[in-house]
Parts: sequence; structure tokens; C-alpha cells
Amino acid sequence: MTLPIWLDNPGERVKDELDVAIIGGGMIGAGCAYLLSRRRGLRVGLVEARGLAGGSTGRSAGFVLRGIQPYYNQVARLYGRENARGIFAFAEESQAMVREFLSGRENTFDYVPCGSYLLASSLEELEDLHESAELMAEDGFELEYLKEDPIDRDFFGAIYNPGDFGVHPARLVEALVTAGGASVWQNEPVLKIHQEDTDEAVVQTPHRTIACRRVLLATNAYAALLEPYFRGKIQCARGQALVTQPLRKSIVDRLCYANYGWEYFRQLPDRRLLLGGCRQLHLEEEVGYAEVVTAPVQESLERYLKDRFPDVAGVTIDYRWAGLMGFTSDGLPLVGRLKQMPSVFFAVACNGHGLGYGLNMSRLLTETALDGRHPGIFSVDRESLAPPSQARTP
Ligand SMILES: Cc1cc2nc3c(=O)[nH]c(=O)nc-3n(C[C@H](O)[C@H](O)[C@H](O)COP(=O)(O)OP(=O)(O)OC[C@H]3O[C@@H](n4cnc5c(N)ncnc54)[C@H](O)[C@@H]3O)c2cc1C
Repeated sequence: MTLPIWLDNPGERVKDELDVAIIGGGMIGAGCAYLLSRRRGLRVGLVEARGLAGGSTGRSAGFVLRGIQPYYNQVARLYGRENARGIFAFAEESQAMVREFLSGRENTFDYVPCGSYLLASSLEELEDLHESAELMAEDGFELEYLKEDPIDRDFFGAIYNPGDFGVHPARLVEALVTAGGASVWQNEPVLKIHQEDTDEAVVQTPHRTIACRRVLLATNAYAALLEPYFRGKIQCARGQALVTQPLRKSIVDRLCYANYGWEYFRQLPDRRLLLGGCRQLHLEEEVGYAEVVTAPVQESLERYLKDRFPDVAGVTIDYRWAGLMGFTSDGLPLVGRLKQMPSVFFAVACNGHGLGYGLNMSRLLTETALDGRHPGIFSVDRESLAPPSQARTP
């Protein structure tokens, strides 16, 4: 986003003063809005370019997983065992935060505590799952290693993660923002942020000028469109999904993450089957900022559906969509502060797992910005923890 002189009409903009302006109304920004409402006396506003959850969150599959794309054994190799334990524990805490948020509230966001299967599509993958299961058990994580295919669809075995759950991601965002009570401005793209020699940053949208002590950027891969600092640090890739019409019966009762996460599927509460992924077959095309579905990826998804689910062959596809994912060279999110604008903090590029990092990532961002917490392994200033060629990007 940039601001051309012809659209800069300062006299026509409403002026606001806030303590904290959150930019981005996806999972991370909504989580910040909720968490900040628990601190007394802060004036908080959330600015979203589209509607709430209009970015990746509302285009996701709604899997809230403990863990990230490489399996645990690979994460331990890439980042070290202690960091592997830390990353998975971070996501587990995030899951607990969602459960705590839900307790005493109506389940308006289709929280389904169904657990997940990580499914082996090859013997090699089964070995990785086996090794991961042993390491995770040693590190105190609850899980079950299954030598047989638990869903009887030609997989080689699986890990069962009992604590994983599904959500309706857009409704989760809505619930968090509603509970937070911050001022929310939708369809207000931030065009410019600037900070002169004062303690305040100024956020400009077409209709508002917001002066604030802290800006929290929760803009995912789009961050690179707003702030040149992120160019070269975030690679933007596209993911696609499809959803069938409601099936007559229930055929999978857990979240399923297969082939190292390159394919994933779940049955929704109304028995529709959601299937996403297959971008590994089209990596060169599936990059950039265009949120469009393409025939090659959709055909790959349909082929997968036919191969793994011959019992639902020919079913009508009711929805097809695309969304963006922000990836980093070492596969971990970026959390930190903009050196040239010290009031501006960010947590971006969750590498395709932003619902899993979820509320704990929102907490890390708010505490980094307001309490001076160090973002640890997710710090933008870390030495890259894995060589770029090793960081895989489903
Ligand atoms: C097909 C697909 C399936 C996925 N499935 C899963 C899954 O099941 N589980 C999982 O954990 N992850 C999944 N992901 C990844 C997940 O969607 C993201 O990691 C997560 O949504 C990131 O949340 P976020 O809040 O950081 O970003 P976003 O949800 O993208 O939110 C950023 C927001 O910032 C807004 N914004 C950007 N620029 C500006 C601006 N200049 N001014 C104002 N607002 C701005 C955007 O409009 C957007 O709403 C999937 C992704 C895709 C594409």
C-alpha cells in the first residue's frame, strides 16, 4: 500500500488518538484486540483493509494444530531439540488459551475437539512419524503412534494428536473482536505509517489519521506491501482449497494432515468435506499476491479426492478458494520492532500455521510491544536457525 498525493486529503480525515492501533483483523490481530481488552484503561483500535478475517484466516482450513509443518524429528534437526520442544509447547499453550476463551461462552465458532491425524503417505513418512512420536513422548507431549491406517484410506500409519481441534476461523475472529470491545474500522486499508521524532506513530487510512503510542502490525504476508522493511524477509505463497456439498454420512471424524502437510482434509460439522493443499505439484505458479484459484491446482485436488475418496467420487464441489501464506527463509514467524519507527511492532509470516500459533502469538506481540518482552526464538533478529533450502513450505 502506498499513498499518492491525489488521494491525500488530510482535511477530510477523521482524527483519532489511541494507545494501541492494531493493523490487521485476522487471527493474530483479533487475538491482540481480545488480550488488550484485559488490560485496564487502554484505548485500542483495530484497522482492517477488508472485512474481519478477510485475509488468510478466513481462507484457512480451520485446523488448530500443535506443531508446525516439518514433523518433530525434522524440527529438532533444524532448530535443535530444545527449540523444537519450545515451539510445540508454544502452540499447545495457544490451544489452551482458545479453550480458556471458550469456557463460559457460547461456542459460536464451531470449536470441535476432534483431535488430528498426521497421516503417512509413504513408508519413509511413517518412519519420520515414528521417530517424531518417540521424541515427542520423551519431551512430554501427549500423542499416540498408530502403525495402521486409522481411516482405512491407503495410508501407512499415523500420529494421533488428541488435543488438536477444528474451528470456524472467521467466527473465531469475530468472537475475539466482539469480546475485546476495541473500536473496529473495516474496509480501511492503512496506506502509510510514519513516525517523526516523537513517541507517537501516525497511521493513515483513506478516512482516518490515527495517532498512537503503539502500532501492532498483524498483517501477515501483506506486511511487505505496506512496509519495505519486510521485502525479501517474507515470501508470499498461495494455498488453495475446495469444499464439497454435504455428504450423506460421516467419513472422517478428525482433522487429517497428510504427506508432510502438503494435503489436508476434514469433514465440517454439516458433513461437507474440505480438502486443501497440492501446491507442491505447482510450486512455481503458486507464489505472489493474487488470491485466485487456478485450474491446475484445483484439478490436482479433485484427483486427490478421487484417489483417496472413491466413495464420494462425482460429488458436487460447492466452494473453491485461494489464500496467501507468508513464509520466511528459516520457516519461523517474525516478531519484533521496526528500527526506523520504534513505536511499531509486528508478528507476521506464520508459515502456514497461524491458527496454531494463534492466541499465544498475539500474546507475544502485545507483551513485546507493551512490556518489553523479548520474542525469543521468533525474534526477527535471530540468526537464521535453518538453512533456507531446509525450510519447507506447504
Ligand atoms: C488455503 C489455506 C489454508 C490454511 N489452513 C490453515 C489451517 O488450517 N491452520 C492454520 O494454522 N493455518 C492455516 N493457514 C495459514 C493461516 O491462514 C495463516 O497463517 C493465518 O491466518 C495468519 O493469520 P494472521 O492474522 O497473521 O494473518 P491474516 O489472517 O492474513 O490477517 C492479516 C490481515 O491484515 C489485513 N491487512 C493487510 N494489509 C493491511 C493494510 N495495509 N491495512 C489494513 N489491513 C491490512 C489483511 O486484510 C488481513 O485481514 C492456511 C492458509 C491458507 C491460504
